[in-house]
Amino acid sequence: MAKGYQANKDRQEAVSLFGKQLGKRAGFKCEWCGSKEDLRLWDYRPEQEPALETLALLCSRCRELADGKKPDLNELRSIRDALWSDIPAVAEGAARVLASCKEQWAREAIEESFIDENVKAELLG
Ligand SMILES: [Zn+2]
Repeated sequence: MAKGYQANKDRQEAVSLFGKQLGKRAGFKCEWCGSKEDLRLWDYRPEQEPALETLALLCSRCRELADGKKPDLNELRSIRDALWSDIPAVAEGAARVLASCKEQWAREAIEESFIDENVKAELLG
């Protein structure tokens, strides 16, 4: 137990070291929807070493979506442009949320985006 807690704490510290750089990169706005509400770092690949490419600055609503909350249509539209980011945590993370709905336009947007082909294939089946 204690070891897991320490590992988690170390990771949080490692992630937080990127906070300043990420805030700058994001322009202190949510990297998915542009909101400025309650921005925090989101860890796209918690199983890997934290890196700028696998972290995104997200608002509270987008963090809920990232955690699997079912998006409504407006929320989906608001994160659509994130697909065009060249940062995997931003583009692929948003693609995963978009792929969770069955909207045709969302699937087409994923197809047109420049995210990793393997991720695309996985998401679009
Ligand atoms: Zn957001």
